[in-house]
Amino acid sequence: MTFEQLDRSYLWHPFTPMRDWLAEPPLVIERAEGNELIDTEGRRYLDGVSSLWVNVHGHAHPAINAAIAGQLGKVAHTTLLGLASTPSILLAEKLVSLAPHGLVRVFFSDSGSTSVEVALKIAFQFQQLRGFTHRTQFLALRHAYHGDTIGSVSLGGIDTFHRVFQPLLFHTLHVNPTIEELRQAFANHGNEIAAFVLEPLVQGAAGMLLSPPGFLREARSLCSKHGVLLVADEVATGFGRTGTMFACQQEGVTPDLLAIAKGLSGGYLPVAATMATEEVFSQFLGLPEERLTFFHGHSFGGNALGCAAALASLELFEREQTLANLPPKIAALRARLNEKISPLPHVFEIRQKGLMVGIELRHSGSRTYSPEEAIGARVCCIVRRHGVILRPLGSVVVLMPPLSITADQIDHLVDATAAAIAEATSQPLPALSAPPPRSLHSRATPAPLRGIFLVGTDTGVGKTTVGVGLLALARARGLTPVPFKPVETGASPEPEDALRLRSAAGRNDLPREIICPYPFPPPVAPALAAEQASVRLTLAGIMSAARRAAAYGDFLLVESAGGVLSPYSEDLVSADLAAALGLPVLLIARNALGTINHAALAIAELRRRNLPLAGVLFVDTTADSAPDRAHNPRLVRALTGVRVLGTLPFLPVPAPDALAAALRLDLDLDALFPSLR
Ligand code: PLP
Repeated sequence: MTFEQLDRSYLWHPFTPMRDWLAEPPLVIERAEGNELIDTEGRRYLDGVSSLWVNVHGHAHPAINAAIAGQLGKVAHTTLLGLASTPSILLAEKLVSLAPHGLVRVFFSDSGSTSVEVALKIAFQFQQLRGFTHRTQFLALRHAYHGDTIGSVSLGGIDTFHRVFQPLLFHTLHVNPTIEELRQAFANHGNEIAAFVLEPLVQGAAGMLLSPPGFLREARSLCSKHGVLLVADEVATGFGRTGTMFACQQEGVTPDLLAIAKGLSGGYLPVAATMATEEVFSQFLGLPEERLTFFHGHSFGGNALGCAAALASLELFEREQTLANLPPKIAALRARLNEKISPLPHVFEIRQKGLMVGIELRHSGSRTYSPEEAIGARVCCIVRRHGVILRPLGSVVVLMPPLSITADQIDHLVDATAAAIAEATSQPLPALSAPPPRSLHSRATPAPLRGIFLVGTDTGVGKTTVGVGLLALARARGLTPVPFKPVETGASPEPEDALRLRSAAGRNDLPREIICPYPFPPPVAPALAAEQASVRLTLAGIMSAARRAAAYGDFLLVESAGGVLSPYSEDLVSADLAAALGLPVLLIARNALGTINHAALAIAELRRRNLPLAGVLFVDTTADSAPDRAHNPRLVRALTGVRVLGTLPFLPVPAPDALAAALRLDLDLDALFPSLR
């Protein structure tokens, strides 16, 4: 088997939609030299994001390699629980000499997330030990990202990453990074907060958001005034990334706790540390019975190989004058970005601090790109053809090259990025919610679904009744239909309509959650019912449930909520779901007074969105025979030109077979099931 096949057989990649990953050949890196990565075919790529923001002096640097090899000749790892080790002692001493003045103790762990997790626990325990037991809250910045362990995620504010874990998380207060809001938060909650955790100067994973000048200094002063610990997460900003060794130094700030990782070992090995002031550390000094110990530790904390790599990296900072060499590189990068990227029409903003850059893309008119348009991913896919590896944050293209990048490489990085942005933004993007074409996108387009999408001219027009009849007809045509009614309200205790559909499909074997993933007991509109249940209905969530349902058969019958513009949430209506599913739309109209106006409006909206309309089906929802009934279909056909498929007469006992028979009387089946032919 090739590496590609083996990867697809065995690996589960982080932050990666694995279904899409499995559909495309991966780029497999075999080795690297300096600032370039080399794949199994021998192709070279500039490491434009420093292998996820970690690499500092380039790959395979002889000095770091030699330090690791030298340490390996002695010992690879010994524990720091109850034992000391030479490389960790030397590294701790070095870090204290480099960090903002006053950070005098080093607690080792092995990733950015653990360094923050350690800081959280130290801060919490510190306040408890001091007797401030009411200080149980943490304050963080809006859109914060501090890692993936549960404590770090609790601080986090990136919805896409963190929402699903909400029930597991502790409550955190969030503020926007403005001095005014920060003062307000301290005024309101200053005596409840154990620590304020922030990324100084730049919020990396939030999209390279820059904090206003003076914000960090103000944070320090408010924390000191209110007895709150200041935790600086310099996992991303540390080790020269913003132009100084640590970002805190640009505002002359010493935090109470400092979390560092990523570039600490030059990006070679997983070494992390949480540094503390004497004031914090001394709170933990005492006799064992006083229970002052910090009960936390990781098997590989202070790993000898990692510490040796870190020491070598820090020596290189001195020997190669890495920081002193940065200003011209930062200036060249800024100039090049201004010249080549700023003028591009879809570049909304370029945010740069040192060698950290975020290029935010928007449609013309400042309209944001939707996640489904995957504009950042498109750029990063195209830029590989230009020999550069990048990784986006949504619609923000991130550049974060190693500090060792050369002038020529800066030109290459920016030129390639400019070309990729120009190409990606000039191509017609798919309609909202549809996945991008396969050739342009690093992820694969899922297989198209087969089935039909039922939507009403309004709510209560007989969609379920039609659905029951159609399912029976589909079965009679030899299909294995699966009904899907994403949301049902008034489901008390069960979603009756969804169960009726399931039974008509002959699929009582299927779990209810497959047919109806979101049942809500209150008999109110779906968006309201979801809100009351604190459920966020999203297109991605409903689409993934739809695809799961579709896997159980060969014909998906979707019954949407209410009418074409009936909302599932504030930013999702039935028509969005129809667009994403790509199924032919069958419009169901109640055959009664007022239907012509409703049908015409619904058809206009479906056409405006270019949705494939299979036709309109009228339903007699009552037994009476109002005089305009016979005219409605004719007038709708004449006014809109849309194919009218027939009328389902009122049936006192709407059993599936009876409905199927009644539909068949008056229905153009081939028009209705176009995908069957
Ligand atoms: N904190 C910040 C500011 C980060 O940017 C990251 C990772 O990007 C982390 C913490 C988590 O680091 P790790 O991925 O090493 O756990």
